[in-house]
Amino acid sequence: MAVRKTLIEQITEEELRRRLDEAAGKVTGRVDERKLKRAIGEPLRKGARRVSNNPLGIVFIKVVDHVLNVTRACSLWPMQFGLACCAIEGLMSTAASRYDLDRFGMIMRATPRQSDAMLVAGTLTMKMAPVLERLYHQMPEPRYVMAMGNCAISGGRFYRDAYSVVKGVDRIIPVDVYVPGCPPRPESVIWGLLAIHAKIRGESIADGPVIAGARPEFTFAQRLEARRLGLKIPGDDPDADPAEEAPHDA
Ligand code: SF4
Repeated sequence: MAVRKTLIEQITEEELRRRLDEAAGKVTGRVDERKLKRAIGEPLRKGARRVSNNPLGIVFIKVVDHVLNVTRACSLWPMQFGLACCAIEGLMSTAASRYDLDRFGMIMRATPRQSDAMLVAGTLTMKMAPVLERLYHQMPEPRYVMAMGNCAISGGRFYRDAYSVVKGVDRIIPVDVYVPGCPPRPESVIWGLLAIHAKIRGESIADGPVIAGARPEFTFAQRLEARRLGLKIPGDDPDADPAEEAPHDA
């Protein structure tokens, strides 16, 4: 059996990143999202905390939070993104005239750059997982994810005996709300959206920056590509099933 060497042992780290980025599709460059968020979010949070040290400041922060949160919750733009039957039976039927998502201020966007929610509707295959991850990291913060249907939550009916299905999108990206069903009823989807609204309304500018969705050191796509090349990257177990990756540490 060929002895596996880490890529670091064979080539420089920069070369490793270039090769993996090239092969798996560049996500957001090499900007450290966690550092960036701390640099932007920390001063804002400290300023808000300082203002909230007196009673009038608390009222001011509450009013600003309320205005910001209501406007954000009532104009949630999800990305137009369906993977399988759930997209038609759950998502599209909810967006159509009978249930009418427009009344919640929701308009589907065809680009991740203008979206702040991702409704993962359907079966996530190993082949599609890198694309989902890339689109997620292209969305601006703050961003919210809803896993719609049993397949998106856990692999559903493909949980056993399907080598090609990821057993839950939370293996790849952090998920805020889970809506079970096969497919979920439009009422359940609306419940999930209202749960996201409730989460948004509970946020405050005085809280810490959201860093749960930061790009990991090596993305799922890069780890898949390294395995395809038969090479090992730091922290990756070559014998582990990629569909069984540990849940995201959100
Ligand atoms: S949960 Fe059911 S309806 Fe939804 S994608 Fe899976 S098989 Fe299709």
